[in-house]
Amino acid sequence: MPPPNSFTLSTIGIVHSCYKEKFGIPRQPGLVTEATAKIELLPPYNRLDVLDGLDGFSHIWIQFIFHACITENWKAKIRPPRLGGKIKMGIFATRATHRPNPIGLSVVKIGRIYQEKQKIFIDLHGADLLDGTPVLDIKPYLPYADSITDAKGGFAPTPSQSPKKPIIFSEQAKTQCEQYQSLHKREISTLIEQIVEQDPRPSYLSEQTHREHGIKLWDINVKWCARNDHFEILRIEQE
Ligand code: SAM
Repeated sequence: MPPPNSFTLSTIGIVHSCYKEKFGIPRQPGLVTEATAKIELLPPYNRLDVLDGLDGFSHIWIQFIFHACITENWKAKIRPPRLGGKIKMGIFATRATHRPNPIGLSVVKIGRIYQEKQKIFIDLHGADLLDGTPVLDIKPYLPYADSITDAKGGFAPTPSQSPKKPIIFSEQAKTQCEQYQSLHKREISTLIEQIVEQDPRPSYLSEQTHREHGIKLWDINVKWCARNDHFEILRIEQE
């Protein structure tokens, strides 16, 4: 009998994340360590026993659906931002979101595993996941099998090719961050710094300066722009 060529998968959990839209999310996990998120397990998996033993691991693999681009078509060749958007690579040589099966894979540091009002959560640190991401599976990261010290990184050997520019907060943004931090008990300025440092702009805008960008985090929109030799955080707008 030939193997089936289509399968039914179901969501086992949902991600609650600081990232409220795609723009600004780093291209891989671990780059913005200050980013916080959590997985909420959904019925019938919302029970603590399915996580028995996970507290001995520091990281998990998360398989998830790129739900925010599920209706868009896949492409055989794409232009990785890493190559300045100038060179095309085969889809299966990239980690692009527009894939024949829109499945993502991230290795993420875990924190507390806990139950709150009948709901089960796993805290995540440094995830690259949009708020509302449907989770298909969770597996422990196994250092002996998953860490390959002599692996080659192809056209993406390091997190970024361009040197990092300094981040400067305007007086207004500085005050707003302090107010936000004392109100919400969340370290927001380091989070903003780490995100903007990655320069999330699409390659075709990377030469442009003085254009205002916005990154939606939690309940705020962080307005910033690129200057010649630094990035400036302009202000924070409440959503
Ligand atoms: N680490 C994953 C992987 O390799 O499969 C994701 C890599 S992909 C290049 C990273 C981008 O996916 C992020 O910059 C963000 O814009 C996008 N992303 C994250 N969660 C998403 C979701 N639920 N739907 C659509 N795009 C998403």
